[in-house]
Amino acid sequence: MAGEGGRLVVLGCGFGGFSLLSTLRRSRWDVTLISPRNYFLFTPLLPSAVTGSVEFRSILETPRRRLRDLRVVEGSARSVDWQARTLSCVGAVSGEEFTVPYDFLVIAVGAAVANYGIPGVAEHALKLASIEDARAVRRGILEQFARAEIPGLDGEQIRQRLTFVVCGGGATGVEAAAEIHDLIHEELSESYPELAPFARVVLVEALGRLLTGFDEALADYTLRHLGRGGIEVRTSAKVQAVERERILLADGETIPCGLVLWAGGNAPVPFLQSLGVPLTPRGRLAVDEYLRLPSHRQVYALGDCAAVGEPPVPATAQVAQQQGEYLARALDRGREGKKVEPFRFKSSGMLAYIGGGEALADLPKVKWSGRGAWLFWRSVYLTKLVSPANKVKVLFDWIKARLFGRDLSRF
Ligand SMILES: Cc1cc2nc3c(=O)[nH]c(=O)nc-3n(C[C@H](O)[C@H](O)[C@H](O)COP(=O)(O)OP(=O)(O)OC[C@H]3O[C@@H](n4cnc5c(N)ncnc54)[C@H](O)[C@@H]3O)c2cc1C
Repeated sequence: MAGEGGRLVVLGCGFGGFSLLSTLRRSRWDVTLISPRNYFLFTPLLPSAVTGSVEFRSILETPRRRLRDLRVVEGSARSVDWQARTLSCVGAVSGEEFTVPYDFLVIAVGAAVANYGIPGVAEHALKLASIEDARAVRRGILEQFARAEIPGLDGEQIRQRLTFVVCGGGATGVEAAAEIHDLIHEELSESYPELAPFARVVLVEALGRLLTGFDEALADYTLRHLGRGGIEVRTSAKVQAVERERILLADGETIPCGLVLWAGGNAPVPFLQSLGVPLTPRGRLAVDEYLRLPSHRQVYALGDCAAVGEPPVPATAQVAQQQGEYLARALDRGREGKKVEPFRFKSSGMLAYIGGGEALADLPKVKWSGRGAWLFWRSVYLTKLVSPANKVKVLFDWIKARLFGRDLSRF
């Protein structure tokens, strides 16, 4: 392994950490990855995992199998001693505390889901950021259908149990609402023909439009497309509180429901707050154009937890991946004493699934929606999945779902 001063510690195995470690010339460094989970998660297909279009394990990849020449420690960083250059960590399985020294530190810990201090979100809403979340939402939908089948309920009670509210009209919220609606109308309507007419999907967004990061015409198309399909979209609707089995909107309306999925924006993970360095108003670490923390020259941050540029680059997988690749090359070049160029983000556009076999492709030169964009969406994600095993599994999941339907077992 590497010689003097080559201890590189990477926190987090998401898009940023994984792409950095895949690109880095690892044999030249003494690399330690610290991650609470022992896999990389391909989040863009998480909404599809909720409804069984793809299976949970198909979108996970373990770094131990894909990446050699590195030490993987399953745990979370709690705090940093900047003077001693050590990290205090806690083991992921048994909670044991341990310390890890570093010469270079890369913080790629992602973000938590923001609840904006709205009462009841933490207690009564599900979120969609991890594989456990996806499993909970999938089970939650099937549980509501099981609850709605109890004999003796009146129509209003059935309708309440089968109302699924998605809060947040960004890409995650739109995709989740679209996938849940597909699941109900393509799958559950056959298994529960008497109940399906009672089912509703409601998408609530505080701003005046959906998909703020996307081209406006595509966002308008999405609004019409979701409405045509039967999803009730409420824009300019602020959630005031989430309670057990209902949400309250700021205009006084109450929506009784069986399940609330909270797809809010990003908030800082607790580790960032322990660092004692200033965070941006959106809770990210401000880094320079080389992704360095200005106050600590051998500490870098990237992905959702870091803000670079003005306005900062968006918190997306594409940015995190490019930053990981950039930083790996920069670290390797720096170690060889070569000149390092600043980070520049090159957007290759954005994609989103909008249900009913349609998608959006907001590309630098083309704005595209519909069936063709959906085929493009699928082919891009197949190529972006990080391992051949993932690609084959996802492709087979899609074929299986098309031929035999999605798996509706509740566990
Ligand atoms: C449902 C969903 C769908 C999405 N779809 C898209 C999409 O279609 N396109 C797109 O561009 N973006 C999408 N995103 C956003 C994208 O997932 C993020 O922008 C991207 O994952 C950011 O990468 P990251 O490496 O910064 O963080 P992450 O990928 O979140 O990884 C962070 C890692 O850090 C670990 N970690 C956390 N705390 C600690 C700690 N204290 N110590 C050590 N490790 C820690 C976490 O366990 C995690 O493994 C989606 C996100 C979600 C939730």
